[in-house]
Amino acid sequence: MIFWGIRKKRLQGGALDEMQCPDCRKRELTKNAVIRYIHLYWIPLFTFSSSAELECAVCGKLIKGKELGSEMKKDIKSELITAGQILSKNFGVLLLLTVIFLFALYVSFS
Ligand SMILES: [Zn+2]
Repeated sequence: MIFWGIRKKRLQGGALDEMQCPDCRKRELTKNAVIRYIHLYWIPLFTFSSSAELECAVCGKLIKGKELGSEMKKDIKSELITAGQILSKNFGVLLLLTVIFLFALYVSFS
């Protein structure tokens, strides 16, 4: 049996004081970015999407998608998602490229 599927990692950012929650009207929103990746036996293969959201610490309301606006999404993603996090979730692709590279070296020297 092969275990594979989609997993997500939530990266938590700081508080956002200038906005209030549309449901409870409290200023308790925190910034989150979510990376989705495909795994094989829990080893991350590659990242296929990332998104941003705001979460209310009081009522748990999630603000995402169109509610958030593209400018805010871009800001949150660039603040929270680093190249290292993306690379660590592309382990399978990096491994495959390494194997191909080593095989090409081997072929060219034999
Ligand atoms: Zn709320």
